[in-house]
Amino acid sequence: MNTEKIIEKLYENAEASRGELEFLIDGRNEETAQKLSALARRRALENFGNKIYVRGLIEISSFCKNDCLYCGIRRSNGKAQRYRLTKDEILECCREGYGLGFRTFVLQGGEDAFFTDDVTAGIVASIRAGFPDCAITLSLGERSRESYEKLFRAGANRYLLRHETATPEHYAKLHPKELSLENRMECLRALKEIGFQTGCGFMVGSPFQTTADIVNDLMFIKSFSPQMVGIGPFIPHHDTPFADKPAGAAELTVFLLSVVRLMNPKVLLPATTALGTIEDGGRERGVLAGCNVVMPNLSPLSVRKKYMLYDNKLSTGEEAAEARAALERRMEKIGYRVVTERGDYKD
Ligand code: SAH
Repeated sequence: MNTEKIIEKLYENAEASRGELEFLIDGRNEETAQKLSALARRRALENFGNKIYVRGLIEISSFCKNDCLYCGIRRSNGKAQRYRLTKDEILECCREGYGLGFRTFVLQGGEDAFFTDDVTAGIVASIRAGFPDCAITLSLGERSRESYEKLFRAGANRYLLRHETATPEHYAKLHPKELSLENRMECLRALKEIGFQTGCGFMVGSPFQTTADIVNDLMFIKSFSPQMVGIGPFIPHHDTPFADKPAGAAELTVFLLSVVRLMNPKVLLPATTALGTIEDGGRERGVLAGCNVVMPNLSPLSVRKKYMLYDNKLSTGEEAAEARAALERRMEKIGYRVVTERGDYKD
């Protein structure tokens, strides 16, 4: 096998075999990473020009009934600071975000029983009425098909639900036994069928992850054909069972972002907060490797430090929605422009 050929084939045909992907990942070096990144960037420029779409991230609740071993807001973390936003607070975030030029609001949170279907649909409907030209994205975990349908009817357009890992045995090492990959996948299928622009994704360097697991993730993404893909490095949180596990590498994350861009040319691909957290300039590096979205934090300042999924998570400074002008300058420096558009998926 020849790495150059694999990369060229990825660029030409948007596909590679399992064996080729494994070879590409395990055999990567500075030179192949450069070549891959350059082609992924070219592909993004062909499809989106030098536009960067922005999403305002509103973290609506740090309560969670789940106990994912990697996550700082897991149920068992007695030290986590819990909060939930009211509908008025969420609408206020949207108002502020609208003024800053955001036309997509992402409501993310733990699986908090307070946000029943009626409560959540009520919030979505109010945002829909108040901001008719905006996209509403939800990232609220696993719910029933009926629940997803209600939220869609209330006016939500997109849903982010990372599959976390496409290997069942690996999934079982990262999650308590009540949670299964099967159900996660069932949710993803339902979301797509209902008509949501749907996002899946995974953490890079999560504990016990092998190259074969990563290849499974890449193959799953290709076959599921999502409209969005979220990929960031795993970062340990000190009050979780994975406190002592090493963080995923920025280098591998960026490499995989490029592979995902080439395999899924039109996908909306954020340079994530986690990437910006483990490396200074990580988001720029992501953009230069084929990302076309960034998701600054629009949560009220008073709660930002409480939504701690992992240690040192950025929520102010560069990561803050208020810093939009600074973000624009950073993107301009590398030849990109932040735009005020909904940035929907286009086939
Ligand atoms: N409850 C929602 C939102 C989860 S938080 C859901 O289940 O989808 C959003 C994402 O953050 C998760 O899907 C996970 O991939 C990521 N995340 C959680 N803990 C993390 C950690 N320690 N390091 C990096 N990413 C993490």
